[in-house]
Amino acid sequence: MHIREMIADAERTGQPSFSFEYFPPKTAQGVQNLYDRMERMYHFGPKFIDITWGAGGRIAELTCEMVVQAQTYFGLETCMHLTCTDMGEEKVNNALKAAYKAGCTNILALRGDPPRDKEKWEAAEGGFRYARDLVRHIRDHYGDHFDIGVAGYPEGCDDNKDEETLLDHLKEKVDMGASFIVTQMFYDVDNFLRWVDKVRARGITVPILPGIMPIATYASFMRRANHMQCKIPKEWMDKLEPVKSDDVAVREIGKTLVADMCRKILAAGLPHLHFYTMNLAQSTSMVLEELDWLPSPTRPLKQSLPWKQSLGLG
Ligand code: FAD
Repeated sequence: MHIREMIADAERTGQPSFSFEYFPPKTAQGVQNLYDRMERMYHFGPKFIDITWGAGGRIAELTCEMVVQAQTYFGLETCMHLTCTDMGEEKVNNALKAAYKAGCTNILALRGDPPRDKEKWEAAEGGFRYARDLVRHIRDHYGDHFDIGVAGYPEGCDDNKDEETLLDHLKEKVDMGASFIVTQMFYDVDNFLRWVDKVRARGITVPILPGIMPIATYASFMRRANHMQCKIPKEWMDKLEPVKSDDVAVREIGKTLVADMCRKILAAGLPHLHFYTMNLAQSTSMVLEELDWLPSPTRPLKQSLPWKQSLGLG
């Protein structure tokens, strides 16, 4: 199912929905652990999951393998991230072919970050330059088979902080055929909602999926916020700083802050939340519990995984 249809369903029924993002782990044991966790988290009821694209070699192959596993074996609706950094057309086509064969119908089309040894991004010779080129390539080759998402930046991105220019480029990606936007993580919800108004004022009408990063520990919270250069409201720091060495207290306060942010987003009419799980269940499930979105008598447990049903195990 296309993500834009899932969002339309959430709008039509008034039932908000959510999704989980995972990244390919570095070790075989890590991959197995993640599959187990994905299965457990499936029962929280995500509408779909994302697998990020790990540029280069084995990690890129692993993205494809994980998409195949999640989509065909687990029966999870999956969105594959695909970057065009250092990717020739052939590699892009191979990744798309693997996704197509697995029955995956959603791609998040990205330019990609520069390789670790380079400070600035440079286009590969004869390769794609911007995410919009990848969007156009996918549309040209696969028509409407894939729903295509693109990245949005409510607080600017690494190599561009100018909001108006970034909005021009976002509009270009949508005009090339993107049909939903997933945002970079943020904690300043008022700024995010102001940005959404600006996106809409540009005539961009496709669904916007806010990227939500739950809080696991004070150190990881600060590290990620600093890395993404995202603003942290003073009120958040006032609450988290005094308990920074107490992980349990940080998670408890963090879940309330993040859930309040989610409620504001939902109240503003955005029906879907996209969680950056960092491959862990705890802090995301705490936010879902705070929102009263975990399975309960009024929100019954999802059915067992399709592969288990087909084997009579579910
Ligand atoms: P683009 O939209 O192409 O923009 C890149 C830069 O080029 C911007 O500064 C933009 O303003 C500029 N630009 C765009 N079009 C033009 C134009 N026509 N003329 C001049 N300048 C232009 N990275 C990974 O490696 N793997 C992932 O799985 C991954 N997932 C992500 C998921 C989300 C939700 C987000 C927000 C980011 C993700 N990233 C991922 C990081 C992303 O690859 C980087 O942020 C990258 O630097 C920009 O990618 P983009 O798709 O936004 O690029």
